Amino acid sequence: MDSLQRQFPQFPFSIIADEWIRFFKGKSLPEQLRDRRIARVLIAPLLFSSGGIGIAEDGNFFILLNDMNLPGENAESLGHEIAHTFHHDLTQNPPKNFLPSDAAELIEDFCRVFSEIWLRENEGERLRRIVGGLKNNSREKSPAIFYFKRKNSGS
Ligand SMILES: [Zn+2]
Repeated sequence: MDSLQRQFPQFPFSIIADEWIRFFKGKSLPEQLRDRRIARVLIAPLLFSSGGIGIAEDGNFFILLNDMNLPGENAESLGHEIAHTFHHDLTQNPPKNFLPSDAAELIEDFCRVFSEIWLRENEGERLRRIVGGLKNNSREKSPAIFYFKRKNSGS
């Protein structure tokens, strides 16, 4: 399988992400999300973004997906946002972001590639069905931290 470590050697957490995908492939989605401290996935009306991740008051992540997007697009966004948890120290509460500030653009490439590999290794169709079954279930208040992925920017 493709290796994030080979494509993103400048990110020490690439190897952790590779191992994580390998270890969790085929496991249930909730199990995978729980392991990354993602407590909630919300389908919400987002105007300018296909997804986002934030940290809630309880110190766990939540992910927002755009209710205008197709299940396939939201499955890709979900993988993308899961990837963002890998530049956080999950042993801290709340998880601490250790991404160098000059890596803000490169991390978006990392997340895109992570999502491709993650979907492939998890039979993307299965995940698209699960994500397609999620309902628009909230109008969450904005939390403190967001990593927004712009729509159609390929990032
Ligand atoms: Zn992103």
